[in-house]
Amino acid sequence: REAKALLRVRDELKLSLAAVTVLRQRYLRRDAHGHPVESTGEMLDRVATFVAAAEDTYQAGASEQWAQRFSTLLRSLDFLPNSPTLMNAGTPLGFLSGCVVLPVEDSLRSIFSALQYASIIQQAGGGTGYAFSRVRPAGDLVASTGGTASGPVPFLRVFDTAADVVRQGGRRRGANMAVLDVSHPDIYEFVTAKAADSAALENFNLSVAVSNAFLRAVEANGTHRLVNPRTGRTTARVPAADLFDAMCESAHRCGDPGLLFLDTINRANPLPHLGRIEATNPCGEVPLLPYESCNLGSINLAHCTADGRMDWDRLTNIVEVAVRFLDDVIDVSRYPFDELEQAARASRKIGLGFMGLAEMLASLGVPYDSAQAVRLAGRIARHVQDTAHAASARLAESRGAFPAFADSAPANSVAVRNAQLTSIAPTGTISLIAGTTAGIEPMFAIAYARNVLDRHLLESNPCFERLARDRGFYSDALLTEIARTGGVRGNRRIPEDVRAAFPTALEIAPEWHLRMQAAVQRHVDAAVSKTINLPTSATVDDVRKIFLEAWRAKVKGITAYRYGSRPHQVLTLVSPE
Ligand code: ADP
Repeated sequence: REAKALLRVRDELKLSLAAVTVLRQRYLRRDAHGHPVESTGEMLDRVATFVAAAEDTYQAGASEQWAQRFSTLLRSLDFLPNSPTLMNAGTPLGFLSGCVVLPVEDSLRSIFSALQYASIIQQAGGGTGYAFSRVRPAGDLVASTGGTASGPVPFLRVFDTAADVVRQGGRRRGANMAVLDVSHPDIYEFVTAKAADSAALENFNLSVAVSNAFLRAVEANGTHRLVNPRTGRTTARVPAADLFDAMCESAHRCGDPGLLFLDTINRANPLPHLGRIEATNPCGEVPLLPYESCNLGSINLAHCTADGRMDWDRLTNIVEVAVRFLDDVIDVSRYPFDELEQAARASRKIGLGFMGLAEMLASLGVPYDSAQAVRLAGRIARHVQDTAHAASARLAESRGAFPAFADSAPANSVAVRNAQLTSIAPTGTISLIAGTTAGIEPMFAIAYARNVLDRHLLESNPCFERLARDRGFYSDALLTEIARTGGVRGNRRIPEDVRAAFPTALEIAPEWHLRMQAAVQRHVDAAVSKTINLPTSATVDDVRKIFLEAWRAKVKGITAYRYGSRPHQVLTLVSPE
């Protein structure tokens, strides 16, 4: 029965089996017995209608027409909003943003109120990021009790446990980002927290906030001061390179911590008078001020080609409707606390990005690891950014600029509706739903075995399969053979141009991963979620090199992941490398 139901849902929008499984388990609305009461198409209509209701507040009666347009956009899978919008639009939860940053001050009251807020946001499927840099270090004085403080890291464990517990009631496990400033006295403990124990802080990504001054000290073999944030006093002087090595060793061992380049981030802060940015959301793509949230949405680039070329007009049209959609989301979202609502309405930040880059490149026959691909990706990011800003300026003409605009913008600048417009999200689930590759990541594998409802199903990249059939080299045996290593680059049974156009993440040199990230970042308002994949054999020195190169390339953050360095990797191959 289950299988029949799956097939029915699958047919409607030509979704993959994996997509349908995820939708049924977590996205579609259900009755009291847990049975889905809507189809995927109906889910998308629910989202379109709910979001379009915002249009009536600007022009009475306009919502009907916009609901139609939004529905057409979503049903085409040319664009999808982040998961919480799909799950919660038109339901009592009603919080639609993908991510929030919460303030954590140096008091129990502040720390536990952040925890309370985080739990409620995670219940709705949102991710939470925090900077713990203001929390006094371990061993420091607690005046009210005369005792000593625990420091930030033990508090992270409390947040981690809470995320585990909340997940049992919710639909996905909470994602958290903890940031600690490189000058915090507990930085060593923070940096090694996950590397020391593979089961620790499973719901957290860790990022060290590094300054230009620190990285220059690393290069020059200088010293670095650790400073107690409560007193402002220096507690220790350490060789900068020593501390940097500790970060690289941990990242080499388990992928955490990543780095956050706060000086680069703050140079691009659109609202500096509202404060310095200290943290990002869990996957790093949106630097935010405390209590700000971001509604993400991603364009499916695999749908933006025609006759073997980029279809720029189509991309333009999608961007225009998507900006309006995401601006409407801010109005119809239900905020669980006033602080969130005020912050969201003051800056109206949205995060429009794209997914399916790798599939698009492959379909154009352009290898991901080539200058041509990097150039094209940069052009696409710029086109999306320019078009989105123009669309936001047009919205500002009829709806007004975001309220904080008057205090932030230089005189004579064009009024815009949104303080920040573009961002590249990981699109972990929505790319699965849309049936394309995630964000700007390369393909993980050309063919692989996926575990669906306890059965191993051989899946292959649809674009590759189509091409293989067209060119006459397709066979089931070939697919099975590819699934063994995931990739085709070394497979002599496949034509050379095809091998070149279908590299997998591990076949692409780390430098190309970074070049792609940097080229896209140059034309993105917020930041870019990207993992720099390293082979299992990569050394600590390789991590050091890529971290420093990332800083020089002016990306906003960096995450390196060495294949196989975590026990529970999301995607695995039967026999890696
Ligand atoms: P999706 O594809 O489900 O819309 P993404 O993978 O693009 O989500 O992630 C976007 C953001 O959503 C992340 O940076 C994070 O803030 C949040 N997020 C992702 N996964 C989770 C999760 N399991 N729980 C809570 N928030 C999440």
